[in-house]
Amino acid sequence: MAIATVNPATGVTEKTFEAHDSQEVDRRIALADAATRGMRTTSFEERGRWMNAAADLLEADVDVVARIMTLEMGKPIAQARGEALKCAKGMRFYAEHAAEFLADEPLENPSSVNASAAYSVYQPLGVVLAVMPWNFPMWQVVRFAAPALMAGNSGLLKHASNVPQTALYLDTLFTRGGFPEGAFSTLLVGSQAIAAVIQDSRVKAVTLTGSEPAGREVAANAGSQIKKAVLELGGSDPFIVMPSADIEKAVDVAVTARVQNNGQSCIAGKRFIVHADVYDRFAALFADKLSALIVGDPMDDATQVGPLATESGRDELAELVDDAKLHGATILAGGSAPDRAGWFYNPTLIADLHNGMRLVMEEAFGPVASLYRVESREEALEIANQTTFGLSSAVWTTDAVDEQYFIDALDAGAVFVNGMTISYPELPFGGIKASGYGRELAAAGIREFCNLKTVWKG
Ligand code: NDP
Repeated sequence: MAIATVNPATGVTEKTFEAHDSQEVDRRIALADAATRGMRTTSFEERGRWMNAAADLLEADVDVVARIMTLEMGKPIAQARGEALKCAKGMRFYAEHAAEFLADEPLENPSSVNASAAYSVYQPLGVVLAVMPWNFPMWQVVRFAAPALMAGNSGLLKHASNVPQTALYLDTLFTRGGFPEGAFSTLLVGSQAIAAVIQDSRVKAVTLTGSEPAGREVAANAGSQIKKAVLELGGSDPFIVMPSADIEKAVDVAVTARVQNNGQSCIAGKRFIVHADVYDRFAALFADKLSALIVGDPMDDATQVGPLATESGRDELAELVDDAKLHGATILAGGSAPDRAGWFYNPTLIADLHNGMRLVMEEAFGPVASLYRVESREEALEIANQTTFGLSSAVWTTDAVDEQYFIDALDAGAVFVNGMTISYPELPFGGIKASGYGRELAAAGIREFCNLKTVWKG
């Protein structure tokens, strides 16, 4: 794929970029390696100052950065501003908490291991490669970079080829804040250049957020080198609505959960599994609210749903819906692309789904909500757990027994009760099954790229 900014609202190529050649990649790896050795002698306090300074810069740049993101991948501009500000908040969170998350862990009773003292220390691994997607082009990167740099690692970013201007903004953000040259930089390369970077002995670990095929390839390569990998892949999260739920509220949140970021979020509610007692009311309200959304120019503050980020993404989404229609599904809202330039797709609600339709098992990466009617919580659980994914989930109920049943039994990395899944710096984030492994954010996230070294003293 060419490295280029192509405006998804128009289809027009705005700017193309020359990829870094192998010498430049080597130079950047060498700088990252040197930076991580230098950073081992810096304190949390010093790194925290640099991180907060970078957050200040990002906040000052919020309008510029938001416009770049919207131009490159089409998210509504208000959401782009929100994403940039969320990044600054995440950076400050790790500036404040890294020392506490990575504090030494003493064994209370060292005599039990015949020692005078025993403890564990967290040390940085070194250079970590981050292969990142276009959907949250700032946040996906920052939620890796803020903890990694605060731990004393350095980061190399291979960003998606359709968000090069965002990647180049991030290239200098952390050094502008005060981090040493090379502590974080962008490799402007296509995905075919990544195998060699993973195999480079100076690169110690890799994290990837993106599709399952990309995750498989990167993790297999890292595995062959015995290097740590964290994978955050797709999801087809269930959004379960039980009879005791506040239906109006559940519908409002369902709309946001499904169409936020033009429907292109791994943790979006994608499959709405609704109890028969409240199904008709939920379906009617949901269809009305999805149909009423303003689809349009993402640079316009009034727009609620912009275009899909790529033409192929839009076409794949349309194929999923067409396949379901062909096999007897019912369209309750949307169901087609509007007649206009750019890669738009109308917010869609689709019901009467059955196994054999691709939409049942595959991830719909766009504003398409699948609706299921169930007779019991057992049936809801069966549908919720039937995909290969296991990222997050949401349950709407005020019944304590139902609530605990789903918390216990959902195959997912998270359960949100009476709300939608959101990633918070304070909470661990990640999945199971084909959604990946490892955790980002919170204490778990910063520890992923550390060597937990045991110290025993006789
Ligand atoms: P990809 O997985 O192809 O892209 C994500 C990142 O991985 C990009 O930087 C890409 O680079 C890179 N990449 C792709 N293949 C390889 C490889 N073999 N080796 C190394 N790096 C690689 O996602 P797409 O953009 O193609 O989106 C396709 C689907 O992926 C979506 O429909 C959705 O299901 C899922 N997805 C999930 C995301 C999430 O948040 N979990 C985010 C984005 C996508 P390049 O751009 O140069 O190809």
